[in-house]
Amino acid sequence: MSVTAAALRELHRIHQRLADLRDRLERGPKQVRAREANVAQLEAKLAEARDRAKQTQVALDRKQLDLRSGEQKVVDLKVKLNGANSNREYQAFLEQIAAAEMAGSVLSDEILEGLEKIDQLHAATMEAEKNLAAGKQELDKARQNVESSAATIRADVAQLEAELIQAEKALPADLKADYDRVVRSKGADSLAAADDGVCTGCGQQITLNMQNELKLSKLVFCKSCGRLLYLPE
Ligand SMILES: [Zn+2]
Repeated sequence: MSVTAAALRELHRIHQRLADLRDRLERGPKQVRAREANVAQLEAKLAEARDRAKQTQVALDRKQLDLRSGEQKVVDLKVKLNGANSNREYQAFLEQIAAAEMAGSVLSDEILEGLEKIDQLHAATMEAEKNLAAGKQELDKARQNVESSAATIRADVAQLEAELIQAEKALPADLKADYDRVVRSKGADSLAAADDGVCTGCGQQITLNMQNELKLSKLVFCKSCGRLLYLPE
């Protein structure tokens, strides 16, 4: 039983094309998953930015309350100062007023810093929102691309699989099992051209006897890599 080099070349072409299409089918969902992971990360960053802004705002509100109660304390102390019964009491109130005013001044500085910080955090939150929106848009685009191309690729795969069944009919029945085995283990690499007495799959020299068998259209497997060999055009 023999098989023409043209039939084997055609078989190889179909296998390579199928492998390429299956690879593209797998790559699509991978790209989508990568973008989904990116969106999840951007969502986490946004949540973190919002949380920081909220916490900073809470701390700022508390300081503003403290400042107001400190100011009230100074007012109250000044009333007491005016009603002081002794010089010693008067001095004590003066010291308390000075301490309360000092605390108020420190708080005012901290509040100013806090307001600046809030501005920065709001800007960071807006940036995170923008990044998330862009990430979601990319994800949508990737999903649409994958969906629209997957249908075309699947149709091509189905057609090639039908072509493969036809092309495999050229193989001698007694060697079909050997061919099936090598296809199972090597896929698109199950065939290789024997160019100038060298297997182009593994680069090893093949014997003269094998070269003669190839010329006689016999089915020849490379002894070192196991690929099914064929003569190039
Ligand atoms: Zn080889």
